[in-house]
Amino acid sequence: MLSSSTHSTTVEAFKGLIKKIKHYNEAVSLMFWDLRTGAPKKGVEQRTEVIGTLSGETFALTTSKEMKEYLDLLSSPDHYTQLDEITKKMVKEAKKEYDLFIKIPPERHKEYVILTSKSESVWEEAKAKSDFSLFQPYLEKVVDFQKEFIGYLGYEGHPYNTLLDQYEPGVTVEQLDQLFAGLREKIVPLVREVTSSPHKPDIRIVTQKFDPQKQKAFSKIILERIGYDFEAGRLDDTVHPFCIGLNPGDVRVTNRYNHNDLREGIFGAIHEGGHALYEQNISRELIGTNLCNGASMGIHESQSRFFENMIGRSRAFWECYLQDLIEVFPEELQGVTVDQFYFAVNEAKASLIRTEADELTYNLHIMIRYELEKGLISGEIKVADLPHIWNEKMREYLGITPNNDAEGVLQDVHWSGGSFGYFPSYSLGNLYAAQLEHAMRKEIPNYEDFIRNGQFAKIKDWMTEKVHKYGKLLTPNEILVQATGEQLNARYLTDYLEKKYRQLYQI
Ligand code: ZN
Repeated sequence: MLSSSTHSTTVEAFKGLIKKIKHYNEAVSLMFWDLRTGAPKKGVEQRTEVIGTLSGETFALTTSKEMKEYLDLLSSPDHYTQLDEITKKMVKEAKKEYDLFIKIPPERHKEYVILTSKSESVWEEAKAKSDFSLFQPYLEKVVDFQKEFIGYLGYEGHPYNTLLDQYEPGVTVEQLDQLFAGLREKIVPLVREVTSSPHKPDIRIVTQKFDPQKQKAFSKIILERIGYDFEAGRLDDTVHPFCIGLNPGDVRVTNRYNHNDLREGIFGAIHEGGHALYEQNISRELIGTNLCNGASMGIHESQSRFFENMIGRSRAFWECYLQDLIEVFPEELQGVTVDQFYFAVNEAKASLIRTEADELTYNLHIMIRYELEKGLISGEIKVADLPHIWNEKMREYLGITPNNDAEGVLQDVHWSGGSFGYFPSYSLGNLYAAQLEHAMRKEIPNYEDFIRNGQFAKIKDWMTEKVHKYGKLLTPNEILVQATGEQLNARYLTDYLEKKYRQLYQI
């Protein structure tokens, strides 16, 4: 039994170590941001090496002898019960990470890292040539590694649960099967009806030439209006937009602007802005801890999609901002009405590429990937059969067939890098967003009037109170149940989509 002074010394030393790891991570994130927002080309190689060195240091600290000693001591019942809530969660989080790293033999992990970096470049070539057979042997090895890792880490229920847990703690195959069944039942027939409706939006409104500088200026105004704090962030240009939270006082948004399509820049900005609002509003008391991040990938995505789709693509939003946008593009948008614009930015149609899919069809793309990943991990599906099963599922859910593997099974980078279990987070984000929106409507009765008047403080504050401030202090499920009073239910998303798209497409 250790004295109380040993206890508090260990707590302080543990927190100090976590803080040190966070500082390394912040440095790496800043370098990553720099690489993606215009770092000089000739410095890239050296910079990548620096990132490698620093990441190696954080790995060494995370799995160090001191960390093991602190975790062993602080997780023992005598000590654990004396900890405050934040420290308890910090210990749990650090232990989870420690176990994950330590259970996989380092030499196998090293081989895996080498394999995935090769596999990513082979995937690129296979996609360019639209030839799955090039990628197949690499993907087979990546899948075998996933199964081997699950063996080291252990699993409960379905082996895929272990992979899901890395992105969405607590979510299981059992739960996802039920959620996707709920989506499939409503959305597959709804997409058919939308596709065959003679009532179509006029998308020429949003697909003209639009000056990117003006688009950027407008995006900046919108970000400010929804509550993004430019004193705790900045907006830069990039090729693949992202948001990066260094700490709540420095959360950076990046975006790109399509010269020929107004939608990409504006909604890209609002999407990343949603991620940024989350990171900017995590409670200050979590700074320097391992809880100062989003609760999960899915909860993070719920924030970006809530602001992008439920706010940004609502009719009320454009009742407020269309006039401002027309003032920026007076010739291009002359005479455009709110109804025309609202319909044009909510065009829904069956399409082949996930990243270009609309709000209505998006989850069907995720469902296909989920079913394939689950089958690969359980062994029910062979890698060699993927192109064929992919195309079959596209026909079944979306009623269209890819012409080649580049626009089919080879379209996403995720599998080449071993990111299995990640895709469901996107759909979970949509599901969480719809359930949160439903709860918010009940608690803010004239919710739509606030949007219509461009007053987002109440909406943002509600999200901060219910979601943002907790960071990783609560699990995704705890956040959702506390905010909405019930477990995740697909009905909120299907109700929202039915209502919106039946009205838009007059079906
Ligand atoms: Zn996102």
